Amino acid sequence: MPIDATQAYDDDNIFARILRGEIPSRKVYEDEHALAFHDINPQAPVHILVIPKGRYVSWDDFSAHAPVEEIAGFVRAVGHVAREQGLVAPGYRLLANAGSDSGQEVPHLHVHIFGGRGLGPMLV
Ligand code: C5P
Repeated sequence: MPIDATQAYDDDNIFARILRGEIPSRKVYEDEHALAFHDINPQAPVHILVIPKGRYVSWDDFSAHAPVEEIAGFVRAVGHVAREQGLVAPGYRLLANAGSDSGQEVPHLHVHIFGGRGLGPMLV
């Protein structure tokens, strides 16, 4: 079910549990600000989620409240993962659902990285 973007951070959400190591993930990268892992239900040959380590419900929460160092670190991590996956030359797509109209399901900010094939025109 899509999240309510105004909700308080839920420490039991699935990505919080992945960050605490309570639930396994196929990790591709980790640093002090971010964790990246393969999406459990990939929509492209490369489908990776990058999440900040801080407690942010959505892009809105993150962009409004995160310290600049965390924002910079997270953005750097997303770029690093895309480069490490060899996606720069062929290209890739970033997507962050934010709130209920977008269909965001997990109430911890995540950026999807899609790549590995021609992705076609963006539909919305
Ligand atoms: O942007 P949205 O919230 O819809 O995306 C959530 C994503 O988290 C989905 O692509 C889903 O497959 C993924 N997921 C995951 N591992 C889980 C639970 C969800 O990769 N344990």
